[in-house]
Amino acid sequence: MRKKLIAANWKMYKVPDDARDFFRNFLPLVADHSRDEIVVCPPFVDLPAAVESAKSSNVAIGGQDMHWEKEGAFTGEVSTAMLLAVGCTHVIIGHSERRQYFGETDDTVNLKLKAALEAGLTPIVCVGEVLEEREAGLTDDVLRRQCLRAFHAISAKKAAKLVVAYEPVWAIGTGKTATPQLAADAHQLIRSEAAKAFGEKLADSLRILYGGSVKPENAKALMSEEEIDGALVGGASLDPKSFAAIVKY
Ligand code: PEP
Repeated sequence: MRKKLIAANWKMYKVPDDARDFFRNFLPLVADHSRDEIVVCPPFVDLPAAVESAKSSNVAIGGQDMHWEKEGAFTGEVSTAMLLAVGCTHVIIGHSERRQYFGETDDTVNLKLKAALEAGLTPIVCVGEVLEEREAGLTDDVLRRQCLRAFHAISAKKAAKLVVAYEPVWAIGTGKTATPQLAADAHQLIRSEAAKAFGEKLADSLRILYGGSVKPENAKALMSEEEIDGALVGGASLDPKSFAAIVKY
């Protein structure tokens, strides 16, 4: 049995006081929840407030991105050591908004994944097709390429903590959700790529999250699908009640 992981991606929303407010309201709602792992990924400047607020709770904190180098002249970037130093345990890598707007490539995803695993962070690697690719029947090719390149030259031993999020780009922030069956098909393909790269054992235990307009109303149907091992939630994670309802689907 894979323990599900429900992760919040706050994107570029909330200042530190908002983060504190969120946890004040959210933590009591999930205080006795142990069925799933819960992770919140706020903007970098909110991380200290989030870590402090979630201290001694069942909620872990993650970054939304990272650089693969340990340190250096990389203005605006954040290293794994920096994420660890403020108390992060997780990090999102290769989110489609990074790929779309900030030049993230399959190769930088691979560099980041290697660095995150090396540092002991739990990486949540995002893959997913855009609408034109789905309409052109290219979804499987895109997912295969993204996985192949992301997993390149990483050993099964190193990949133990890997988490993948399948996020069809046409479903992110659009209100359109993949059907549980469509998501399950993509998850199966990702799992078979993981089996090729890391072997069956790791692939069987690999958690593959679904992301794309997950809401309290559709969480149960998605999470009931055997292939779906959790969710990466954007918009609906900003409100404590709505994110708690998703966690407790
Ligand atoms: C996301 O940002 O990863 C995401 C899935 O966003 P939303 O839930 O708003 O579609």
